[in-house]
Amino acid sequence: PEFTVRASSHTYPVIIEPGCRHKLYEKINHSYSQYFIITDTNVSPLYLEEVKRSFKKTAVVYTIPAGEGSKSLEQFEKICSFALDHGIDRNSVIIALGGGVVGDIAGFSAASYMRGIDFIQVPTTLLAHDSSVGGKTGINLPGGKNMIGAFHAPKAVMFDPEVFHTLPEREWRSGLAEVIKHGLIYDYSLYSWVCENVSARQVPDTSKLVYLLERSVKVKRAIVESDEKEKGIRAFLNFGHTLGHAIEAEAGYGLWTHGEAVAMGMAFALKVSEEVFQTSLDSGKIINQLEQLGYHTSLPENMNTDRLIDRMKRDKKGINGQIRFVLLEAPERPKLVSVEEGMLRNLIQIGGVK
Ligand code: NAD
Ligand code: ZN
Repeated sequence: PEFTVRASSHTYPVIIEPGCRHKLYEKINHSYSQYFIITDTNVSPLYLEEVKRSFKKTAVVYTIPAGEGSKSLEQFEKICSFALDHGIDRNSVIIALGGGVVGDIAGFSAASYMRGIDFIQVPTTLLAHDSSVGGKTGINLPGGKNMIGAFHAPKAVMFDPEVFHTLPEREWRSGLAEVIKHGLIYDYSLYSWVCENVSARQVPDTSKLVYLLERSVKVKRAIVESDEKEKGIRAFLNFGHTLGHAIEAEAGYGLWTHGEAVAMGMAFALKVSEEVFQTSLDSGKIINQLEQLGYHTSLPENMNTDRLIDRMKRDKKGINGQIRFVLLEAPERPKLVSVEEGMLRNLIQIGGVK
């Protein structure tokens, strides 16, 4: 499949094609002066040679150490200095070959190097199907994730779903949580399809990957096209993330993957939704389905309620210390609401946390 995404600066294609890593060069503009591939130490031994082989012009390559730690000012500086030393100019293009970490720092480098050059996303994790569309790029500060960044839409996003077969199980599970999120907030039939056709414990066959990517990227597209710079509905993408981020940080990054924590956050947000809207969302059934898929939905033990609440208060979405949650009035009907601290405390405690 191939379809387009509209950004305020330009419209770009999303291509989902098994095997396309072998012919990336064919699919991109040949008028660039240089091709600058940024990848990481895990992806490089798996796919760099296959990608490079299709290039008629030589490509310049920079490899960052795999992992979130590379989304740093230090790596950013290294990339830019390397680019300068290797003659990357305004008419060059950066190609991000990797997961969300590579996509974010390569995208941010493209946004700022020489005041902005073109870049192309070649996402190799499922999670990066979410981060590669929408134009957000950025790096971390010691004091906070994604604290420095820019909006810079890619010129193209190219998925080769075959590369997902080498993903570690937990990375697959992490990305699948974002697909589930897209389903619950915007496309319930995608959510049902996921429950019936895939598992969070195993990467499915390529044809299912193609289907799932197309559906999920189209949800992301619909949301970012209507709200590119995050005023209203883009916030709905934070469903499950208010508590999810708090759990990730509280447990120490790396203990739970982002998606594993978001799955717990979604289960929690469903319960909060029922409480706030005094309605039944059949949360018991959905939570059961999440467990069946392979997620933990109850809050990890040894988490402290006060500390979780405190973290949620500091969430970027909050205003004046209020805790704001994306809740569901019904499936496909998200709403951003301030939720009373007392209610959250009660529900966290029912969830088994002191
Ligand atoms: P990641 O890039 O660290 O990839 C996860 C791991 O999988 C890494 O060890 C990586 O080396 C490895 N890997 C990548 N592709 C592989 C493959 N095909 N086979 C085997 N191993 C492979 O992390 P991620 O989960 O892809 O992305 C997380 C990042 O995305 C975070 O920094 C987050 O802030 C960012 N993000 C950005 C946005 C946005 O809108 N810009 C949205 C969501 C998340
Ligand atoms: Zn997320």
